Amino acid sequence: MARKFFVGGNWKCNGTTEEVKKIVTTLNEAEVPSEDVVEVVVSPPFVFLPFVKSLLRPDFHVAAQNCWVRKGGAFTGEVSAEMLVNLGIPWVILGHSERRALLNESNEFVGDKVAYALSQGLKVIACIGETLEQRESGSTMAVVAAQTKAIAEKVTNWDNVVLAYEPVWAIGTGKVATPAQAQEVHCELRKWVHDNVGAEVAAKVRIIYGGSVNGANCKELAGQPDVDGFLVGGASLKPEFVDIIKSAT
Ligand code: PGA
Repeated sequence: MARKFFVGGNWKCNGTTEEVKKIVTTLNEAEVPSEDVVEVVVSPPFVFLPFVKSLLRPDFHVAAQNCWVRKGGAFTGEVSAEMLVNLGIPWVILGHSERRALLNESNEFVGDKVAYALSQGLKVIACIGETLEQRESGSTMAVVAAQTKAIAEKVTNWDNVVLAYEPVWAIGTGKVATPAQAQEVHCELRKWVHDNVGAEVAAKVRIIYGGSVNGANCKELAGQPDVDGFLVGGASLKPEFVDIIKSAT
């Protein structure tokens, strides 16, 4: 079954109004494969979301970088899934390793967030991935399986979920996983989904890779059978993001 290539740009906590305008202009002028071939989603910080959405070409979409775990209310500083829906923001990134590490988001909390966001009609980029220590101790698959299990336990419909495998040691380090390393985990992960969720979901769910993806290394990674796209951090702020989108074909 063909899985549509997915390229996400995670802008993290970066940008000024001027910089955001510049990035969007570059994207709007880019000649890239059509929406039938590649799904492009960029994720600015919350404060720029409506602005980016209003400027961005209609075949590209926006994602929030987080949302609250349940219905909004007395949760100072949080942004609810309902608000994103209200603003017409279709996607949200959840469980990014920076939030897991710096804000102590547990597997269970991320699972709850994914389920709640989906229940409100959002589409979710759910991030998983091991640390260097975990990789070196041979527990990569156990770690990503546990992270995925915490999501799978709470999700019944996977149509609106993209799984982003992002090894923590590769994020923002310039140390990209080799195509073989990425393929190995993606393939194992798909097998895990096959065995624990079902064959149909395993065949359909997109598993994208994140961690130091750039214009130079994307093509070879994109050629791996179980790599269905990318979640890009640093390079998504630069013109080379366009080259990454083009690696879909
Ligand atoms: P990076 O970040 O591309 O800068 O490594 C990826 C991510 O954190 O999503």
